[in-house]
Amino acid sequence: MSLHLSIDFEDVAHDQKRDLGLWETGPLRLDALWHSYEQIDGFLARHGGPRGRHATFFCTGILASQAPDLIARIAADGHEVCCHYYFHDEMDHQQIGTVRDMLKRARDILQDASGQPVRGFRAPKFRIDRQGAEQYRAVEEVFRYDSSFPTGNLNDVEAWRRLCGLETLQILPIFTGRIAGRRLRLGGSYLKLFPGWVGRSLLTQAEAAGFAPHVYLHPYEFVSGGAFRLSAADLRPLGLRKSLLRRLRQHQWHTIGNRGLPAKLAGLVPAGGLAGRLCDGPAKVACG
Ligand SMILES: [Zn+2]
Repeated sequence: MSLHLSIDFEDVAHDQKRDLGLWETGPLRLDALWHSYEQIDGFLARHGGPRGRHATFFCTGILASQAPDLIARIAADGHEVCCHYYFHDEMDHQQIGTVRDMLKRARDILQDASGQPVRGFRAPKFRIDRQGAEQYRAVEEVFRYDSSFPTGNLNDVEAWRRLCGLETLQILPIFTGRIAGRRLRLGGSYLKLFPGWVGRSLLTQAEAAGFAPHVYLHPYEFVSGGAFRLSAADLRPLGLRKSLLRRLRQHQWHTIGNRGLPAKLAGLVPAGGLAGRLCDGPAKVACG
């Protein structure tokens, strides 16, 4: 069995403020980002095994702009640096001209900071337009592979590639399975909040469906001190009701299950360790 780990490396505090209209952009929480990176890298050192010491990090361009030294460190430690768009925006709501600009801008700044070719892409929240082919074609112009496609059936991937007329872009899908009637993905809050057997069951389903499974997680899931939490003062402009709801919702991301996540993830790692960077395996592109 092979299992890859990928990280959507983003500052959720910055990105939520942008989503909520509290700012367009501003300073990132650099200490929290460095600390969470060290937690992830430490996890890989302890549990990754001989092939899985390194993983793939899908990083936002804004992170490369404010913390190029952190991107350089991720690359220098041997991990694969990929692209998670420039801002953590929902691409499917954006015009194609904006999408093209942001894809190139993000790729270029990540390449400059990492000193590596950046070949893989994942859309924030997997929100890339699937009503039409334009956005996927724009991704193909800039990247070699995409990991924004959640599905339970590999036939969907080839059908989508044909429909879009994609020629060079590989799609590495994120497995979506069914448990007790609910559709669940192999990663993120699903992994963190549900008991360990749910992750193991999704992994078994993924393999049975012919997937090269991989788990995706975020920096904030590896820390438990609330370093990425928005404060009452941050949220005040939203008004009382909205800000209270948002503060409750944040527990799901920053508190519940965070302490137990490393042990739960370690329980999914196969006996021989993790399978390494996506470029080492299913992406079939030369690493480095
Ligand atoms: Zn993300």
